[in-house]
Amino acid sequence: MRVLMKMKVNLCKIVDGCRLGTLINLGKKSVQSMEIPGCLLYTKMGTAPHLTHDTLHNIQGVPVVAQISLTTLADLREVLQEYKEGIAKFIGMPESILYCSLQDPAVCSPHGYNSMKTVSIWNNRGRKELTASKFMDIQKAIQPDWFQCLSDGDTISEDISRKKARKSVDRSLCFLDECLQIQENSPELQQSSMIGVIEGGDVLEERLRSARETAKRPVAGFLLDAFQGNTMTKETKLKLLTSVTAELPEDKPRLIHGMGKPDEVLECIKRGIDIFDSCFPYQVTERYCALSFSYDYQENPESADIKEDGKTEVREDDENTKDETCSETQEMTPFEIHLKEIKYREDFNPLVNGCSCFCCQNHSRAYIHHLIVTKEMLAYVLLMMHNFQHYFSFFSSIRNALKEDKLDQLSKIISRQAP
Ligand SMILES: [Zn+2]
Repeated sequence: MRVLMKMKVNLCKIVDGCRLGTLINLGKKSVQSMEIPGCLLYTKMGTAPHLTHDTLHNIQGVPVVAQISLTTLADLREVLQEYKEGIAKFIGMPESILYCSLQDPAVCSPHGYNSMKTVSIWNNRGRKELTASKFMDIQKAIQPDWFQCLSDGDTISEDISRKKARKSVDRSLCFLDECLQIQENSPELQQSSMIGVIEGGDVLEERLRSARETAKRPVAGFLLDAFQGNTMTKETKLKLLTSVTAELPEDKPRLIHGMGKPDEVLECIKRGIDIFDSCFPYQVTERYCALSFSYDYQENPESADIKEDGKTEVREDDENTKDETCSETQEMTPFEIHLKEIKYREDFNPLVNGCSCFCCQNHSRAYIHHLIVTKEMLAYVLLMMHNFQHYFSFFSSIRNALKEDKLDQLSKIISRQAP
């Protein structure tokens, strides 16, 4: 059996808490690497939403690691068990590096279903209760390059108490130990990297205990879980992130899910987070919007006119009772424009002037508006192409700004556009 080269972060530099570097030995089969800070490619069942392999290849800067979620894969266990060669080959992407997360960051799951021995995941066929051994059986069938360990992240509700936070940490550590033991005895998973999950809700001492105990175990990286949503204040989140990352070894990557808005991304990076999901540009696409924020840190933040058509009015969501934490069509942010608005009907500019994406090179805002009004699926395809490329370029801009010691300029540009 091939010996697995351990995934490892090579840091180039740390500027004010931001980690610039390269994550090496990413996958099972190759020695590919990715630059950090960076993001994963958000997928549904291994496929980028609305895009074919060909259209995806037209996008610049596509992340090397694709994220798939266990919620959609759990039902494929038997098929995959019989197939024996893992999900990457099964979906026709044998060269892809796949990270399997427990939940889909774009989908909300109900609260209150986890227990001492089980964690519940949900998909369109209902609820699935996973014990550590059931969870690992599915992972053996999927054979991902990385996978998020089973954990109790149900701490996002309003009434999170100290007791509940402690339980989430206790349970998650038990799951981790059990999963590590199963992995040791599973030939199918010898080359997969397990990501340890840090829980503890908004209770600092529980977060610290979770970080310290998880860091003692042989995990390949860390996921700082349950930071999405609005139940914690921004100050609490940032304070927790700073304290938690201070407990983690430097040479292993730190991931976070559901913190994808440009201002949030920068705040997290400053607190030592390396890897994000790219669910945000997908959510923007789902509400017929195009990312339009500027990330050009070379321009003068004092004089530059950032948005050529002024600040977009933040639209009130017409369908009420939307969950604010993770529904597929969250509220619009100031980083995007809403192409369904009537004012784009005769606007023959590209989505973003100067954008080199396929959509902006070939089509106008008016055309996208027309596709939306006539309910053509192509609207989603073109918006997804633009939004992904815009988002991936934002990450590349962050890395360049770090290289050139200009993150402050970039932060200023972004916070000027933030709410
Ligand atoms: Zn574009």
